[in-house]
Amino acid sequence: MNMTDRFVTTINCMDGRTQKPVIDFMKSEYGADFVDMITEAGPNKILAEYTNKLTVDSIKKRVAISIEKHNSKVIAIVGHYDCGGNPANEDTQIKQILQAVRNVEAWNRDVEVIGLWVDENWKVNRVACQYSFRYSPVSINQLAQIKKLKLSRLY
Ligand SMILES: [Zn+2]
Repeated sequence: MNMTDRFVTTINCMDGRTQKPVIDFMKSEYGADFVDMITEAGPNKILAEYTNKLTVDSIKKRVAISIEKHNSKVIAIVGHYDCGGNPANEDTQIKQILQAVRNVEAWNRDVEVIGLWVDENWKVNRVACQYSFRYSPVSINQLAQIKKLKLSRLY
């Protein structure tokens, strides 16, 4: 692994329609070179309900690899329109994303945990959450710097 490679972590749906939009969003918003993708069917529901221990533990193990081996500083939890694994409506799904963010924050990793909603146009929207700023090692200024560096590398 190249030490300058920047990885981020996403807990996304297995739905093929959500992969590219989320990868593109994480690359542009977080200056990621690589997006580690942990996929389940309706992960926001799984992580909000927190009853399927086997799957929760499996997600947790994969998140640990992404953080420890790839030095990821951000975990994004994704919900999306027309989800086969989580047929709940948008309002319910947003609530589940927020609950999932809180549950993943409780793993006490020193990383930022964010929620993303992929809408009916397959556009990625950040889900606002008062708790999601508890850990913010990736500050806005830092991000601006990273983006600037990346831009300057192109010229
Ligand atoms: Zn889905």
